[in-house]
Amino acid sequence: MAKEETLEDKIKSIMRKRDEAYVEFNSKQQELNTLMELYYEEGDTHEKIVCINCGGQGYVQTEDKGKQICKACNGKKYIWLLKFKEQPKTKEGN
Ligand SMILES: [Zn+2]
Repeated sequence: MAKEETLEDKIKSIMRKRDEAYVEFNSKQQELNTLMELYYEEGDTHEKIVCINCGGQGYVQTEDKGKQICKACNGKKYIWLLKFKEQPKTKEGN
């Protein structure tokens, strides 16, 4: 008879699957970020501006005078903003 799978075995197995999924998630996120950058660069819907959270530093100062990667721009120093488009005025509305 095969050895019973213990709770410890089950936990280790699920932890391994979770870790593999995490690596896969990060890989897909990186891929997505790269494609979004290209999409924004090539299109005219978004504008690149200096990050308003860190002022273009890429990091923010922590309370204990340390540095922390800016969560708004992820250290890139800039963010993409959707361009504002004025709605065309209609004769009826004015
Ligand atoms: Zn920033």
